[in-house]
Amino acid sequence: MKITFPYMGSPYMYEKLFSLLGHEVITPPRPSQRTINYGVKYSPEFACFPLKVILGTYLEALELGADTIVTSGGNGPCRAGYYGEAQKKILQNMGYDVEFIIFDEPKRDWKTFLENVKKIKGNNSWRQVIKTVKIVYDMAKSMDKVEKIVETKRAYECNKEFTKVWHEITEEYRKIESSEDVKRVEKKAIERLNSIKICEVPEEEKIKIGIVGEIYVVMEPSINGNIEEVLNAYGAEVERSHYISEWIDFNLIPLPFYKEKEHQILKKGEKYIEIIIGGHAKQSVGAIIDFMERGFDGVIHLKPFGCLPELVSQSVIDKIMREYDYPILSLSVDEQMAIANVLTRIEAFLDVIKLKKHRKRIAR
Ligand code: SF4
Repeated sequence: MKITFPYMGSPYMYEKLFSLLGHEVITPPRPSQRTINYGVKYSPEFACFPLKVILGTYLEALELGADTIVTSGGNGPCRAGYYGEAQKKILQNMGYDVEFIIFDEPKRDWKTFLENVKKIKGNNSWRQVIKTVKIVYDMAKSMDKVEKIVETKRAYECNKEFTKVWHEITEEYRKIESSEDVKRVEKKAIERLNSIKICEVPEEEKIKIGIVGEIYVVMEPSINGNIEEVLNAYGAEVERSHYISEWIDFNLIPLPFYKEKEHQILKKGEKYIEIIIGGHAKQSVGAIIDFMERGFDGVIHLKPFGCLPELVSQSVIDKIMREYDYPILSLSVDEQMAIANVLTRIEAFLDVIKLKKHRKRIAR
């Protein structure tokens, strides 16, 4: 099997999982304008934007020789649940002979889940599979932990160093072979990040922004205009509502303790969206309340074009803004997204936040 997968955030974790199990891995190229053009050309016009970009990614990986696509399914009443089938059909119509292995939540269908695991397992022993999964899980946790430090400290860098160092750190993670390696790389990474010179900013002038929305557009910087880096460059700390290790905790680990954080977020969104309406709409609203309660100065909401769940959450956002007088900026992400327009809106958004903070200070 020559395995490929959707490109979302760092690809090294997925690459590690399959390579440690002895598969040939075709890592898809980072999504680019070419990827988007490909996806837009061959997807139905009404499909949501992530489906198009991911299809473009598959086409590029197939060109590089991949013959098997491993991906996750979706749950709830949104289109993610039939992404795999729709994309498979499109690729078959284009003449590609490709196998799809789609992982849905195990509790929904244990039998299919185990059949898929066996396909990936190959000739490895179960012991080896468990060991590999543990290494990759440790890697995901560790990379998320280190990335959170980057998203915070980069806002205060004196020289442009953090992004370069973060890329070098991810390359170190790419080489790991064991959980001990993960610990070693993490320790070195934190030491390196702590040694970078940062310019002190008075506590009351610091700005913290939460990013919420549909998981793919929140996690994939190549299609969201590198929003975290942009915000950091404007001097704002950033935290996302989605990290891959937290997605694994909630969706793949069948133990209540691992799901606690997501349940709390869902509970916070309950006042505005009572039931799960698909995608991450309820989580987006819950995460906004969570960021607000944790003292974040504002939230940016990312919604892909054609995404019904996030359209619903956007309609609720207006209510939250009025109710709490809380700054939230909603940005639609699609192939037409103009970076200059996004930058202008972000600048104006940050100006509003600064003014609000200033007024609060002088009113004290
Ligand atoms: S959450 Fe939105 S963008 Fe994601 S699959 Fe569902 S409809 Fe599409």
